[in-house]
Amino acid sequence: MSENCPRQVCERVRQLLSELLDDELRGVVLEEVRTHLRDCPDCVLEVDSVKKTIRLYRQCSCQDVPVDIRIRLQDVIRRAREQG
Ligand SMILES: [Zn+2]
Repeated sequence: MSENCPRQVCERVRQLLSELLDDELRGVVLEEVRTHLRDCPDCVLEVDSVKKTIRLYRQCSCQDVPVDIRIRLQDVIRRAREQG
């Protein structure tokens, strides 16, 4: 298992992040994401920063606004990608 970082899996995990954090993932997909997070520090960092963003956002707004959070998540993910 010493292949190059499986970027396709990373992409997929990042696309599923908001669902993961919303507890919407089930079964095989959830398992796949969890397994990947065990092996991929990059994606763990990503999950971490998204979690922090959500927490900050909820503290500020005191409201549950999932759609806004999702838009914000996409922004965070895009920035993380640009930073490389
Ligand atoms: Zn990854």
